[in-house]
Amino acid sequence: MKTLEELCFNNTFSQLTDHEFYSKVDTTPLNNQHLISFNANAAALIGLDIHEQSRDDFCDIISGKTPLHNFFTLAMCYAGHQFGQFVPRLGDGRAILLGQLEHDNKKWDLQLKGAGPTPYSRGSDGRAVLRSTIREYLCSEAMHGLGIASSRALCMLGSDEEVYREQIESGAMLVRMAPSHIRFGTFEYFYYTNQHRALQELADYLITEHYPALCDIENPYLALLSQCIDNTALLIAQWQAVGFSHGVMNTDNMSIHGLTLDYGPFGFLDAFKPDYICNHSDYQGRYAFKNQPEMGLFNLSCLAQALLPLICNDSDKAAELARAELAKYQSLHLEYYHQLINSKLGLGKVLADDIVLQKELLNLLQQNQTDYTIFFRALSNNDDKLADMFIPRENFDRWFASYQQRLRLENTTAADRKSCMLKTNPKYILRNYLLETAIERANNEKNYADIENLLQVMSSPFDEHPEFEHFAGLPPEWASQIQLSCSS
Ligand code: AMP
Ligand code: MG
Repeated sequence: MKTLEELCFNNTFSQLTDHEFYSKVDTTPLNNQHLISFNANAAALIGLDIHEQSRDDFCDIISGKTPLHNFFTLAMCYAGHQFGQFVPRLGDGRAILLGQLEHDNKKWDLQLKGAGPTPYSRGSDGRAVLRSTIREYLCSEAMHGLGIASSRALCMLGSDEEVYREQIESGAMLVRMAPSHIRFGTFEYFYYTNQHRALQELADYLITEHYPALCDIENPYLALLSQCIDNTALLIAQWQAVGFSHGVMNTDNMSIHGLTLDYGPFGFLDAFKPDYICNHSDYQGRYAFKNQPEMGLFNLSCLAQALLPLICNDSDKAAELARAELAKYQSLHLEYYHQLINSKLGLGKVLADDIVLQKELLNLLQQNQTDYTIFFRALSNNDDKLADMFIPRENFDRWFASYQQRLRLENTTAADRKSCMLKTNPKYILRNYLLETAIERANNEKNYADIENLLQVMSSPFDEHPEFEHFAGLPPEWASQIQLSCSS
């Protein structure tokens, strides 16, 4: 395990030749920064010795106040479709890439979020508040714990710096990690500014660094699109299966690697409500829970548009090829989704009638406002109180009888099935009320115990954590009053 100095940073993104890819910028430290939480699981991914967190200069180094000599701090440029409208120039307004590392044959970008203004800050302060930093820190690890691709969180710093939002809050920073932070919107920037040579350089960079197998394919750019469609279809199916709503699925928040990126006003379903809108500023419900698959396709279409000049010189042919790839999205997504729901039910391969069985169950959950996570966990445990979650219970009994009939077609024992279902249906999910409580204690009392506890529990959400049983219960009444907006 390495010290900070021993980490071999080598910023390959900074070596791109086109000067519009990024702006070199220094981080701006916060007043009186201190370490709030350090995530040993993420440290292991980069081979960082966990004892490094105890160094007096840990915060100064990781925040770029006294940067390592091999950091190359930069803010990336991108554009994006925000709520359907194209915004030609966004970029990292408050996140700064510290450097890149390779460990165990995996590449990691280390990015400091809340690092101060950059040339892309558009008049904003470049800061992140403690509230939103806690949310991203915990949710990225919760997603990973659920087996869903996500940016990861190495550590979180707090400070005494006042940051102005609807009220005065304290500034914080998050060190997050991802193979890269390239977004759909990064490609859109170069497409819409007609910089097709840079567009190609970006695509070549991504392929060489992250998808070398695509180099040998006849049309690597089409293959890149195809890969991205597949990754995104899976990602959104996984979100739907665990009841996750991202909240701001703009193309600038969509990772080219198909991982969950940029946690803002996200939410996990409590009661099963397909219309659930977690973002209070999303007046039209564009990113409502049930719309996510369709919004995934919209975003992929934006990406495909941006890749057209690379796919073929003949623009009609390029469009035809891209359309053919996009046409695969819906069935790919549904295939992943139905398979995931079958797994939640302890069923193997999806048979013709399974989709009806799934739909009937989801309708029942919706009609009864049944808690999505608690129901599937109880089903895994074959809880004899299952039917009590439904009124009238006969409707559930009828569904359960057809489910039992379907189970007879499986070649599994009840014990094996239970063990699989318990590994598929989490006991713990990061409900917004749990976050709100942890945030309140952190803000008001500088008490970070809940953050550590939630980090531990949500990192292994399928396991029992008897001392944290209270994290697995139904949300309290006040949870329905929580309002989250883009402000962070
Ligand atoms: P988001 O909605 O958080 O994905 O942000 C959209 C864009 O606004 C991104 O380019 C962010 O970098 C930028 N941004 C958000 N908040 C701030 C802030 N406080 N200061 C500077 N830029 C910001
Ligand atoms: Mg963003």
